[in-house]
Amino acid sequence: MVTAQSHTPIRSREGRHTPIRSCKGCRKKQAKGQLQRWVLQDGQPALDEKQNISSRGVYVCSDSCYNSIKGHLPQIINRRRS
Ligand SMILES: [Zn+2]
Repeated sequence: MVTAQSHTPIRSREGRHTPIRSCKGCRKKQAKGQLQRWVLQDGQPALDEKQNISSRGVYVCSDSCYNSIKGHLPQIINRRRS
């Protein structure tokens, strides 16, 4: 096995600084980009596809997790623990 002595820096995991959020359905932690972000707009749940809507939101990892929380989405968002 030859070890390449290149000058390419090996990026540590911190280098990319991926924000981690936990799914409100199953509590699994995942990178923000892997999750769906839902916000309330005029009291209605709306998918924040670009994750840049500046209202309060929650993250879920899948449709089934979303389905399990959607009945009380407003309470979850307004409570905003964690
Ligand atoms: Zn989940």
